Amino acid sequence: MKAIIATKDRKAEVVEKDIRPLKYGEALLDMECCGVCHTDLHVKNADFGDVAGRTLGHEGIGVVKEVGEGVTSLKVGDRASVAWFFEGCGHCEYCTTGRETLCREVKNSGYSVDGGMAEQCIVTADYAVKVPDGLSSEAASSITCAGVTCYKAIKVADTLPGQWMVISGMGGLGNLALQYAKNVFELKVIAVDINDAQLEFAKEMGADICVNPLKEDLGKVAQERVGGAHAAVVTAVGKSAFNQAVDSLRAGGKVIAVGLPSESMDLSIPRLVLDGIEVIGSLVGTRQDLREAFQFAAEGKVVPKYQMRPMEEINEIFEEMEQGKYTGRMVIDLKN
Ligand code: NAD
Ligand code: ZN
Ligand code: ZN
Repeated sequence: MKAIIATKDRKAEVVEKDIRPLKYGEALLDMECCGVCHTDLHVKNADFGDVAGRTLGHEGIGVVKEVGEGVTSLKVGDRASVAWFFEGCGHCEYCTTGRETLCREVKNSGYSVDGGMAEQCIVTADYAVKVPDGLSSEAASSITCAGVTCYKAIKVADTLPGQWMVISGMGGLGNLALQYAKNVFELKVIAVDINDAQLEFAKEMGADICVNPLKEDLGKVAQERVGGAHAAVVTAVGKSAFNQAVDSLRAGGKVIAVGLPSESMDLSIPRLVLDGIEVIGSLVGTRQDLREAFQFAAEGKVVPKYQMRPMEEINEIFEEMEQGKYTGRMVIDLKN
């Protein structure tokens, strides 16, 4: 079968790979599609260490072709996800208290185990989440990482309907964060991006205020127009966005850090202490978060924008992503 792997020279390559026999508790998926997340770009660039030879991809959706011994959660013909949270140990402090993505023994698709950018993929059946009827595999792929990550980040922000949220970075994640914020959590949204094309798209999706921080001071706009945001979800891949997010908050506000630039952010200790600012990291979502995120998409509250692309275009997609040349998600077509 064909698979897209990370190479030593920090590129991606389509290669032939064999698929091994199933072990206890595993299922084999015939993959339909897999979205390209900015995290795949970090992985292939070795930002989190060298994983050359690994099959990339953690926004995968496939159809169960075969189940191994002991599998009760999936059956042949079900559609299921290949998400970044591939598997936890199931018995540690994190796994047993609703924080399974923080498991210290965690396996991550397309990073520590082979991922979904392949014609076939082996998953641990109990950790693959079923896709509900009424949600296409193409749309579900974008929810599998981008959607659930933003849905979870907004949950973590613990906001009330009508409150203001800054969403910084309006790319693959951000446009779904905007839709969950508006259509599920009933928030008012200040959309932020350094690329005007992304802001145009955000406006179409219902952003209440749009700010390009290269042209306007986000902190000033947020403080003057809404008295400061109650929370800021930062998906932007740049340190400046994290610093500006702190400036955009009212007292008691929260920064939910989602984007993964390999940098440190600045934090004024008096601002942190005197204004009771909270900074919280949020890592993808649990299986239950993904079930919920899928369901809202199946109900039409969140509509991913995507374009299907062949496997062979993976390096072009990464270049276009780096240069900010598209809106929404590029999804690798693994069926045709
Ligand atoms: P993307 O490339 O589709 O979008 C990033 C957006 O950020 C772009 O629109 C870009 O113009 C914008 N941007 C860049 N610098 C900015 C700045 N200084 N201010 C405002 N906007 C800026 O990427 P994506 O797939 O949406 O992923 C975004 C980040 O989130 C990546 O670092 C990715 O690794 C990370 N991520 C984290 C999690 C998690 O669980 N925490 C999950 C998925 C992705
Ligand atoms: Zn991702
Ligand atoms: Zn665990």
